[in-house]
Amino acid sequence: MDELNKPVGEINFYCRQIQKKLKNLGLATIRGLLFHFPFRYEDLSQIKKIKELRPNDIATIKATVDSIRNFKSPKTHKKITEVILHDESGIIKAVWFNQWYLKDRNIINPGDEFFLVAKTNSSYELVSPEYEKVSENPTHCGRIVPIYPLTYGVSQKQVRTAIKFALPFIDFLEESLPEEIIAKNNLLGIRDAILNIHFPSSPKATKDTVPTSMEICQRARERLAFDELFLNQLKNFWLKNELKNKKSYPVIFYEKETKDLIAKLPFKLTLCQRKSSWEILQDIMEPYPMNRLLNGDVGSGKTLVAGIAMYNCALSKLQSALLAPTEILAKQHYDTFCELFPNIKIGLVTRGNKITNYELLITNKKQLSQFIAGNSDIIIGTHALIQDNIKFKNLALAVIDEQHRFGVEQRARLSSCQDGDRYPHLLSMTATPIPRTLSLIQYSDLDISLLDELPQGRKTIKTIVVGPEKRFPAYEFIKKQVDEGRQAFVICPLIDESDKLGVKSVTEEYKKLNEKVFPDINIGFLHGKLKSAEKEEVMQDFKNNKIKILVSTSVVEVGVDVPNAVIMMIEGAERFGLAQLHQFRGRVGRGEHQSYCLLFPTDAPTRRLKEMENINDGFRLAEIDLQLRGPGQIYGKEQSGKIEFRLADMNNMFLIKKAQNSAKEILAEDLKLKKHPRLREYLDTELQKIHLE
Ligand code: ADP
Ligand code: MG
Repeated sequence: MDELNKPVGEINFYCRQIQKKLKNLGLATIRGLLFHFPFRYEDLSQIKKIKELRPNDIATIKATVDSIRNFKSPKTHKKITEVILHDESGIIKAVWFNQWYLKDRNIINPGDEFFLVAKTNSSYELVSPEYEKVSENPTHCGRIVPIYPLTYGVSQKQVRTAIKFALPFIDFLEESLPEEIIAKNNLLGIRDAILNIHFPSSPKATKDTVPTSMEICQRARERLAFDELFLNQLKNFWLKNELKNKKSYPVIFYEKETKDLIAKLPFKLTLCQRKSSWEILQDIMEPYPMNRLLNGDVGSGKTLVAGIAMYNCALSKLQSALLAPTEILAKQHYDTFCELFPNIKIGLVTRGNKITNYELLITNKKQLSQFIAGNSDIIIGTHALIQDNIKFKNLALAVIDEQHRFGVEQRARLSSCQDGDRYPHLLSMTATPIPRTLSLIQYSDLDISLLDELPQGRKTIKTIVVGPEKRFPAYEFIKKQVDEGRQAFVICPLIDESDKLGVKSVTEEYKKLNEKVFPDINIGFLHGKLKSAEKEEVMQDFKNNKIKILVSTSVVEVGVDVPNAVIMMIEGAERFGLAQLHQFRGRVGRGEHQSYCLLFPTDAPTRRLKEMENINDGFRLAEIDLQLRGPGQIYGKEQSGKIEFRLADMNNMFLIKKAQNSAKEILAEDLKLKKHPRLREYLDTELQKIHLE
């Protein structure tokens, strides 16, 4: 058996004794111990002289034991161990409580030299200090000391000691990175890295050129962070390459028809819409599947770019499908496409809505979805479309709108609703701005098209964070806008876990606004519990300006186009990420009137929220979010689960780039990783995990 996969108990008697406790911490094998990294360090390397100690100092001293005695406190009857020590500068007393074994088991003996770490009290005594016999290579004192994540029942000292005992096993650790990558990126070798991430070596500090312990430790962490990033990139590129071995329908580019379509539009395409459309059209001409992300701010016109590709599929006598996260969005896309492509057979499949723009030759309701999927050239749907094992005829392109709203599994299902051995080309769309670093990490297995300019004529939206004292003036302002004929959105955060569909939060807010604040204004509401026909009706009434103020949850149905809505008011604004707030904001400012985004925090406004007033760039806001809150918070567990690294920092573009380039170079030279069996083995296990998902 591989030495490193042996249970920790095999190391020695000490580790065997605490084996169970370590297991509770997830540390079962020797390898597990070696790869259990400290999350911070304490610098206990500076040794003070006894004479230099001041009351309440936290310090390490190095002193020799003169005497040790056990006794019971006459007053409290506590068991006390008292030790007198000296160094060349003076004498000090140290005391421990309930630890008579220190003397009884000869752990501390006169003549021994010890490191002691503690806070001195007002009478210059050390109370319950950490102690360790002086040696060349101490573990807990007199050095930079690693601090580990723990669980209940196991102490810092135990984990540290066990890891120290495991360290000699690094001789069995094989280098995971190819030599040339280590050399080129000036990285520590794996053994050096593991040694120094736990116990940074203290070099003889003679010349200035010698790195300090902390610098070596930093390099160790960097090397291991590099591993995480490099393997992540390698996997992504590998997946990307794998696509070339799969088959899909090549779509013909109908140049004249496409130009005619564009010429008929009431506006000119933006430059980036043209560029993105062309990138997509070129990709889908290939006989292997595209995997592309279309990333553009709210309102940047992604639907049309997808539409152009879907139109070419239809002209090529191939099917395409568009998956939207909500019924209302799906219906809106359906209406848009029916208008754009009157001569194409288009069908809509949602839970509550199954309609086509051509004659439905079927009466059996149960077979409706299958009929639509089998006979339409363009199919638009929600989750319902991928739930009932629906078979397409010849699906060439699958488009996923607001892709972050779909789970990994759902996306996989759509992209693999195979037609024989063919996979559809996959276009994912998102308005969530993704910072550069994150897109390199998470999305380097796909190609990205960016819509980074908005269509002309969009006005900047005025954003104001409204403190509690300004709430009533703000309501007055909204009333005035409505009196002038405009409309408003009100977004409510979910109140608690039990309110997943937002029923409670929306109903409460609706009641308040309807009865108390705006009794004369017609207000509507949307939440997840409403039937699709009800939602539809509310949305229609809002579009037609019958409803003036629409109260809605954050997750439901705001992806709609209502140019007359000029106010986006958000309650509990601090609960949302900046990028998400930016997306809500994008729902207004689509018409000719000046628009406003009013952010109502629950308490006093935070600085983070204030950024919204000045920054209009979604990417910038997403970067701030990423720095302040980390990827898990912003993109949700589902999205970021696979990108939580233990060491790598999402904001370290420099290291991410280095890792990416290295992965590219390795694969460019050795696509099958024949010369790097260990990397190949790693990938095989990783990919197996993905396929099992
Ligand atoms: P999103 O990227 O948020 O999905 P949409 O595709 O819904 O944006 O487009 C928003 C609105 O902008 C739609 O009404 C669409 O017709 C319009 N639009 C799209 N492209 C342009 C353009 N180049 N010029 C002006 N308006 C455009
Ligand atoms: Mg959209």
